[in-house]
This record gives sequence, C-alpha cells and structure tokens, in this order.
Amino acid sequence: MIYLDHNATTAPSHAVLQAMAQAMAQHWANASSQHAPGQEARRCLAQARQQAAQALGCKPAELVFTSGATESNQLAVRGLLAGAPVGRRRVLFSQVEHSAHLALARSLVAQGVSVGWLPVRPDGALDLRAATELINPEVALVSLMAANNETGVLMPLAEVAALTRQAGALLHTDATQWLGKLPFRFDDCAADAVSFSAHKFHGPKGVGGLLLRQGLAFHSPVPGSQERGRRGGTENLPAIVGLATALSQLGDAGAVNAEARRQATLRDALEQGLAQALPELQVWGQGLARLPGTSYLRVGLLAADTVLQRLARLGVAASSGAACSSGGSQPSHVLSAMGVPREQALAAVRLSLGRDSTADDVNAVLQGLPALLAPLLHEAQACH
Ligand code: PMP
Repeated sequence: MIYLDHNATTAPSHAVLQAMAQAMAQHWANASSQHAPGQEARRCLAQARQQAAQALGCKPAELVFTSGATESNQLAVRGLLAGAPVGRRRVLFSQVEHSAHLALARSLVAQGVSVGWLPVRPDGALDLRAATELINPEVALVSLMAANNETGVLMPLAEVAALTRQAGALLHTDATQWLGKLPFRFDDCAADAVSFSAHKFHGPKGVGGLLLRQGLAFHSPVPGSQERGRRGGTENLPAIVGLATALSQLGDAGAVNAEARRQATLRDALEQGLAQALPELQVWGQGLARLPGTSYLRVGLLAADTVLQRLARLGVAASSGAACSSGGSQPSHVLSAMGVPREQALAAVRLSLGRDSTADDVNAVLQGLPALLAPLLHEAQACH
C-alpha cells in the first residue's frame, strides 16, 4: 500500500508502540492515587510531561494533556472566553478552521455568543485586510489555525498576533497540521494558546495537548483535579507516554527542516509530473507558503471518488476534499470559502506525503495515474 493520507493520520512508530506497551503494563495505577503504584504512575506522568515540554519549547506547567485537538480547541475557546474580561465577549474564527472547530463556533452562536468570521482570499491565504478591520476591542479571542489541513496553506500567525495584541485580545491557534511537519517552539510562537494531536506525528490517536501561556485567565469547561484544574479526568498515561515519545523522535529544528525539504521536493516532483501528463490539473495553494507534503488538486472536473478509485487500483490511499453526509457529497467548506465553484470543489483530491513517503511512491502515481484517467477525461470532453 502507498499511503498518501498523512494529513488524516500517521502510523504510530515502533518506539511509540514499545513505550506505550511498557507504560500500560507497568504504570496502570491511577496517577492521583496516594499509594506506591500511584506515585510511580505520577512520576511517569511527570517525566512524560517534561520530555514533551522540552520538545515543544514550553514550560511543563503550560502543557495540558487532552484527548486530541478537537478537545484542545474546545477547551481553549470556551476556557479563554469564560476568563475574558466583562465587555469582551466576541470570538473570531477563520472560515477555514477544521470542521469540528466550526461546529463549536456554530454551537457558540446558538448559545448567544457573538461570533465573527475571518475570510480567506481566493488563493486560500487569510485576508489580512479584513482581519485588521474585524479585530477590535470587543474581541476576546481569535482562533486561527496555523496550517490548513486541506490546502496546506500556512496562516499569518505573527501578523494576526500583532493585531490581537493591539486590540487587547488573545490568539489561539490550532497547530494540529503544523506540528511534526515544520519546526515549532511555544517560546517562539506568537499565539497565546496552541492545540495539537499526537496521531499527526506518529503518536497514538485520542491524545493531544493544549499549550496555555502562563498567567492567562482560564476557566475550564472540564474542571477537575488533574492538569492543574484545567482538564479533569484520569490521565491516559500510556497515550501520554506515546505522545512524548513521538515528539522527542521529531528531532531538533534542523532535522524537522531537513525532512520538510525532502517532502517538499517529492511533492513538487509529484505536482510537476502530474501537470505534464494531465494539462487539466489544477493545484490549490501552489506558490503560497504551505505544508511541505500537502498537495490539494483536481483533474479537470473528474469526480474525486472516481480519481480515488483509480488511485486505489494503484494501491494508493488518499482523501477527497469533500465531506460525505448521508450518501451525498458536500463540497469542502475550505474551497467554498475560497469561492471555488461547486463542481470544481467536488473534484478535489488531497495527496499528503509524510516521513515514510519515498520517491518510489511518487513514481508509482506518476507512472500509473495519467493512463487511468486519460480515457475518462476524453469521455468527459466528448460529453461537452
Ligand atoms: N484540527 C485540524 C487542523 C485537523 O487536521 C484535525 C484532524 N483532522 C483536528 C483538528 C482534529 O484532531 P483530532 O481528531 O485528533 O481531535
């Protein structure tokens, strides 16, 4: 199998599996228990937190373990909004946040919270001029993802942080797609709060983190004695150990950059090869700063499902940009926000490379896919 869906999830590494199995067997006690096995579990938790914090460039106390980015995003927005001064009740989300995060935004609207939307330009980049107008002193919090999961386009965090600072608002970023693909340190990061999920960088699923700058007013929507009162619930120690192991395997910024360059070279070869063989190809986000392994494209108006079936024949696993609901396909909200027409959006396919991707994977797509799609393209042309 050729796996080109790394933005959806990644395989846990061997070291992660081993560390988790050991933690599950040895440290099954509750880290809050007073007895000796509980204290051992607590020591293991503290060690994992230390290891993760070192890799993330944060203080151990700034790291809150969660069940993943969906929960981290909710904690951040609800917790920081509840802690905001009276008179600041507005939250801004970009239009291209992850679908679960948009669902949170809609539930805030239903609860009477004032929500605003930061638009993107037709190329998928954030519209900074609109952001400048929208970020005003009524705003408590701006939630802007670091990198988009579909287009891979990077968002201008530093510029938006300057705007939030000036307006006295806070900035939360969903860095789920950034972490593991590009260098990250919280002490260098412009945002006040950062969400991530371990399974995007070869850790386990169902565990992630929220980084919260020390001193922020935060009223947790999931209170409890764990995580310094910021997230209640018995800690999932094996998963946390897996997260810390996966983070420390990323290496330093030099190693992450080298891997990013390797993936970008493969991705560019894939896009150039496909464009040569298929003149109908359109790639979104090309020419913008974007994640190194992400390629979001369409081949004419060939339905995404059709292209994915042909890829499957070549043994390639990839994703479409459409969300399926009760049998029908909805165009991606990201492409809709960019103003991409529906029939083009329904043709969107995402190929996302990762650290296990090779030149052979790219060559297999280049050698196999154009021949499988060419007859379909001719058919489609004949119909018009
Ligand atoms: N945010 C982004 C940008 C994502 O890509 C994802 C995962 N697809 C999530 C949040 C949610 O992560 P999880 O499902 O691990 O909670």
